[in-house]
Amino acid sequence: MVYKLYKNDFPATLKFKKSVAIDTETMGLNLNRDRICLVQVCFGDDIAHLVQITKNSKNKPANLIKLLQNKNITKIFHYGRFDLAMLNRNICPVFGPIYCTKIASKLSRTFGAKHSLKDLCKDLINVEIEKFNQTSDWGATNLSNDQLSYAAQDVLFLHKLKVKLDEILQREGKMNLALECFESLKTRVKLDLEGFQELDIFAH
Ligand code: MN
Repeated sequence: MVYKLYKNDFPATLKFKKSVAIDTETMGLNLNRDRICLVQVCFGDDIAHLVQITKNSKNKPANLIKLLQNKNITKIFHYGRFDLAMLNRNICPVFGPIYCTKIASKLSRTFGAKHSLKDLCKDLINVEIEKFNQTSDWGATNLSNDQLSYAAQDVLFLHKLKVKLDEILQREGKMNLALECFESLKTRVKLDLEGFQELDIFAH
């Protein structure tokens, strides 16, 4: 597993590609209370770039922001709803097309399949990933090798999963509905950030 760790931004020399897989690690799940600690990105080339965001870092991560706000680069997430809200609150709003492997799986794999990243990796690309570091202290000044490889694996397989999920979405005639869901994710995130997290606005 290949990862590169940077403090508070990646270098301006990092080459962007037309799509990027993104994940975040945070101090917890509360959007108002918990800060973002790590942003992982991967351009589909088996290298994870890990940007550690230190507490009270003075400078905005200018290069990361350039990537997040590039309207021509597709952003691939697994459960993007949370990462988009966290990025929005802690770094900047995210622009450009969104893809969420969890939504794609829920729409197309309706036969009782599970939709966690671990399940998708096992079912679709025959890769076993470990989730044991999920609840570690991501705010630590020095992140352990275990934490960093765990964080890396959360972005390393998203491009491959997208290829497989796109095939199933096409086969089942669900691609257009998926694209509409990805687009509407931006609205769902706005609602979350406005405090409507627990409310299904479409429910009776
Ligand atoms: Mn993660």
